Amino acid sequence: MFRSKFSYSNSKSSYSDLIEDIESGNIESIYFYPRQREIDVLYKNGNKFKIPILYNDQLILEKASENKVELTINNSRKEASAANSFASISLFLIFILAIVLILRSTSKLASRAFGFSKNQSKFVTIDDVDTRFDDVAGVPEAADELKEVITFLKEPKKFENLGAKVPKGVILIGPPGTGKTLLAKAIAGESGVPFLSIAASEFVELFVGVGASRVRDLFAKAKEKSPCIIFIDEIDSIGRQRGSGIGGGNDEREQTLNQLLTELDGFADNSGIIVLAATNRPDILDAALLRPGRFDRKIEVMLPDLDGRKKILSVHSLSKPLSSDVDLGYWASRTVGFSGADLANLMNESAIHCARDVSKFISDIHIENALDKITIGLRTSLITSPNTKKIIAYNEVGRAIVSAVRNGIESVDKITILPRSGSLGGYTKICPDEDVISSGLISKKLLFSKIEIALAGRAAETIVFGKSEITQCSINDISYATNVVREMVTKYGFSIIGPISMDSDNNEMFLGEGLFTRKPLIAENTSSRIDNEIIKISKISLNNSIEILKKNRVLLDKLVEILINHETIDKKLFKSTTSKLLNV
Ligand code: ADP
Ligand code: MG
Repeated sequence: MFRSKFSYSNSKSSYSDLIEDIESGNIESIYFYPRQREIDVLYKNGNKFKIPILYNDQLILEKASENKVELTINNSRKEASAANSFASISLFLIFILAIVLILRSTSKLASRAFGFSKNQSKFVTIDDVDTRFDDVAGVPEAADELKEVITFLKEPKKFENLGAKVPKGVILIGPPGTGKTLLAKAIAGESGVPFLSIAASEFVELFVGVGASRVRDLFAKAKEKSPCIIFIDEIDSIGRQRGSGIGGGNDEREQTLNQLLTELDGFADNSGIIVLAATNRPDILDAALLRPGRFDRKIEVMLPDLDGRKKILSVHSLSKPLSSDVDLGYWASRTVGFSGADLANLMNESAIHCARDVSKFISDIHIENALDKITIGLRTSLITSPNTKKIIAYNEVGRAIVSAVRNGIESVDKITILPRSGSLGGYTKICPDEDVISSGLISKKLLFSKIEIALAGRAAETIVFGKSEITQCSINDISYATNVVREMVTKYGFSIIGPISMDSDNNEMFLGEGLFTRKPLIAENTSSRIDNEIIKISKISLNNSIEILKKNRVLLDKLVEILINHETIDKKLFKSTTSKLLNV
């Protein structure tokens, strides 16, 4: 860094020579550099030398001033400051570079989040859908209504001539997995028009206004493609009642919904666009969405009945090698309450079990295993202790017998003490009632029987092992029973407290609406009456179960013996053993 202004001669000069030369007056001048242990020496004859000295060498200074040699202190601060500024400039450059890099990556992030560029629109356009109504089984009413929608798309003139308005929006309502999305695809496939599909959650982003712009995009694209179908899946995620909900993201959802309502109003009647939506939460939809002129057609897609389940099973076994002795009607009867998606899953699992067995055809045993896996869970290691086996067996058989007494022998599908993942002991599979599933109505009697069945494990243990020997084996059933009793008392008005709804944990948190207005209004007195009532009903139910099992002690012991030996009792064996011995 420190550069001297001298060019040096090659001949060497030493410190002692220097002292001598100073004294003999040969030196013209000496240059000092602070913080350097060297000096430059200019001789009178013109020679220049660099000579090492001691740090802060006083001798040279003295000698030089004695002999009147010119002394120059070379202040290097300038050079040093030049060095400093070089360092700080490079630091500054690095800093700028870092900022540029950070800005770049955040701007990329931001533009992704804002999604302003049009080609990032999240909807999918499918011009050629290959799903047909044949692929959707077991929901004939919904399929028929939707076939009409195809006529609207294909022959709008027919309706126009009669002065009728083609519906703009059709909403499919039903439990998850019943085939709503599948139906929408089938309409697109059958009508042969383009199908613009988007999940409603795709509209909603962190930033207000993005959803609304996506809705505009979607409808603009649809107008280009008309006639066409716009399908908005899971519309409840934007279609919730406005003014509800807590926390952020609310404005965004409301703006998106408003834009959707505007677009629905905006396109002319009979313009060849039909908006199809699907939801399993119609109860939380904004009323404005459902008014005539928007989604005015509601199509309910229900859980399939016996016949429907059989048809769905056969649709999903078309591409699978089903053994000829498999009776799908039988499997349909064992799958009460299953949705189309559950049934598709059942057939798929069966195929997997079949492949695992390296067999060529799917037979009953594969379907049985698949059903167990779906309903009961995966099998874990065997129980080895005979005592544990006995306790679990009494628990399970107790439940089965109470179910047989209350709901008929047919209600018991299977009893097993093979432990499954996620459960303490075995499992008693009880078929739900077909009528209850289809009507959705639950009677007081049915709830009582549910509670008695749930507490039957505890009842069996009490009778067989005595009050002090009971285990916590029925822990899950007890908590289930308590929940049912609480609902009976506080929701359905099934107790002496009367027809009063005191249900505090409804959807308020979710809807937000009544959060601040509808505080629980139960007086302390009522609250303790509720608790007493819950305790009373639970105790009565346990006693009822004990009575039933006492009456059927012989059957109880017999079934337990079979269960311990065979580990599983299927529907047939249960029926044949029980039918003669059961005391109702
Ligand atoms: P969701 O009603 O929740 O939209 P999906 O339509 O997505 O249900 O159904 C999921 C899957 O379940 C479908 O892809 C199909 O394989 C099967 N499935 C559901 N319902 C039926 C049905 N009625 N007929 C045939 N398959 C069905
Ligand atoms: Mg769906």
